[in-house]
Amino acid sequence: MKRRDALKNLSLIPIGSGLALGLSSTEAAAATPPAPKRDLFKELGVRTFINAAGTYTFMTGSLMQDEVVEAIQATSRQFCLLDELQDKAGEKIAALTKAQSAVVTAGCFSAITLGLAGVLTGNDPEKAAKLPHLEGTGMKSEVIIQKGHMIGYSQALTNTGCKIVYVETIDDVEKAINDKTALLWFLNVQSDQGQITHEQWVALGKKHNIPTMIDIAADVPPVSNLWKFNEMGFDLVCISGGKAMRGPQSAGLLMGRKDLIAAARVSMPPRGSTIGRGMKVNKEEIIGMYVALEHYMAYDHDKEWKEWEARVATIRSAIQNINGVITEVKVPKLGNVTPTLHVTWQKESVKLTSKELQEKLRAGSPSIEIVNNGDEHISITTWVMRAGEEKIVAQRLKDELSAALA
Ligand SMILES: *Cc1c(COP(=O)(O)O)cnc(C)c1O
Repeated sequence: MKRRDALKNLSLIPIGSGLALGLSSTEAAAATPPAPKRDLFKELGVRTFINAAGTYTFMTGSLMQDEVVEAIQATSRQFCLLDELQDKAGEKIAALTKAQSAVVTAGCFSAITLGLAGVLTGNDPEKAAKLPHLEGTGMKSEVIIQKGHMIGYSQALTNTGCKIVYVETIDDVEKAINDKTALLWFLNVQSDQGQITHEQWVALGKKHNIPTMIDIAADVPPVSNLWKFNEMGFDLVCISGGKAMRGPQSAGLLMGRKDLIAAARVSMPPRGSTIGRGMKVNKEEIIGMYVALEHYMAYDHDKEWKEWEARVATIRSAIQNINGVITEVKVPKLGNVTPTLHVTWQKESVKLTSKELQEKLRAGSPSIEIVNNGDEHISITTWVMRAGEEKIVAQRLKDELSAALA
């Protein structure tokens, strides 16, 4: 019997029981974590849910790998010097990602701010203390971005006091560059919406001796993106740690040129009087991020992909024969590259708006979060679920859609 068939035959056993995962009882016992001493979510009255939506910060991102939680536990009982830890962890991270240097930041957003701060200040703490007030300091103050790469997260750049100059063509870049230009910033997830390619962007930076930075926050998988842009020649590469890598949600990486990483650290804790003082990463998260990266890189990525697909197939097969329901599996080309199930339905057949369905799934037990795309369209991903949860989602979705049949 195939694993998938085995799973199909199981009824809905509560998650946490290894039996729901098709494990033997001894495996199940080993896989079942000891009951926590306190149920703090319950105590606080905070709703928990099955995340069938994806790595959204407002849904607290992703669940840390067990190895990360263990590393956090194991390192929480001793002190060390923050800078020494960043040096040593940074060396390991740089070696893994084929970067010259690296540092653990408080997420991708802070990597962007700190990376740019370093470009502006170099190794001068007095300059760092002046940010975000650049006028009259002699520091540069402009960042060039392609119009197609406009995104709210560019606030991470303007936090330093810099202004953004938008361009469309290579010619525009050549004209926009002046002695105030600090950085050429590139957004991988919207790279198909700009006219200038990655390689051209890097070449422009090299030609004019201006650093280039790329935001690849949500761009693993594929795992190769962890080193691709370092090898391509971007001077700084910023990524989230708490998305697909399942490191601490409040961690990320700034990778790149040795001098620029050192300069970025001038604005980082433990140093005060900096715009980065509030972007602290504790020792446990620094080590947790390192372990997340190391372990993520060693994953069997094909196997993981097949598991995500199998979960999507489980949900899809439960609902695809419901009258008026149309299902389709798509994989985004850029950002959050994971099998994504799109469910739409004819409103004559299923008397339910996507908002009503979202609310019903949310109100159920266990609560489930999906993405509401408006009208009669929802989408589901399975990559941040725990194994077995897809069966609950499949059943609940089937029940709600069937109940609403005209
Ligand atoms: C998630 C995201 C960020 C912010 O990353 P954090 O790690 O949450 O700070 C920045 N840019 C893009 C494109 C993102 O998707």
